[in-house]
Order: sequence, then C-alpha cells, then structure tokens
Amino acid sequence: MFILKGIDQLEKAIAKAKKLRPRVEFDSFGRYRVSGSKGYYTVICRKDERGYKTVECTCRGAEKGLVCYHSAAALSLHVALARREQIAQICIAPAKETNEIPYLKPTIERPVERVGGIRIN
Ligand SMILES: [Zn+2]
Repeated sequence: MFILKGIDQLEKAIAKAKKLRPRVEFDSFGRYRVSGSKGYYTVICRKDERGYKTVECTCRGAEKGLVCYHSAAALSLHVALARREQIAQICIAPAKETNEIPYLKPTIERPVERVGGIRIN
C-alpha cells in the first residue's frame, strides 16, 4: 500500500505500464483487476479516514510499499471514472427533467491512456 502524493512517484510505474500494457478490468468504483506476470492482481484506490489517497495492490512489490505498474494502470482508469462521476453529478439534474441524456453504462475495460496530466499512450 502506498499513499498517492503526486504524479512524480508514478512516473516509473507509468513507463512500465506503458511498456507492458496490462489489462485493467473494472470491478467496482475504486476496485480494479489488473493483469500481471502471475495472473490478475486486485488494486484498490480510496481515500482513507485522514483524507489520504491510498492505493493497494495484491502483488509482492506493493506489499513492500513500492509503486507497482498495476497501481499506475488502475489509477489511469480510476482517475477517468472519478472525473466522469463529477461530470455526471453536474449533468444528472437537468437530464432527469428533460430525459434527453441517455444513461451511459460505465466502461468495463479501458486501455491505459493517461494518469493525471501525463499521456502514457
Ligand atoms: Zn501491483
């Protein structure tokens, strides 16, 4: 488990994710499955009780507190979903009244595109 403080600490992991292109599967918001060398790992992104953004992965490296590429890959999806969630909250009220905006299902699978402001594709 590590605490996400900034994009800098993810740089190496993003580079590795870009190279290895793991599959990231959506489980629930904040919970993802990422393919690794020995099958799938579960990555959990959340805010702890002190307000720190924490990322947990079930791989060996993460157990030692390292920022693994699974985490970086899952975060790229998590950040995109979190952003969509914010947009959805803004859009929901008028959409309900007019019924104009169809309900969009969350993306099940998504290639690694970007984390924060850094493009990794
Ligand atoms: Zn990992």
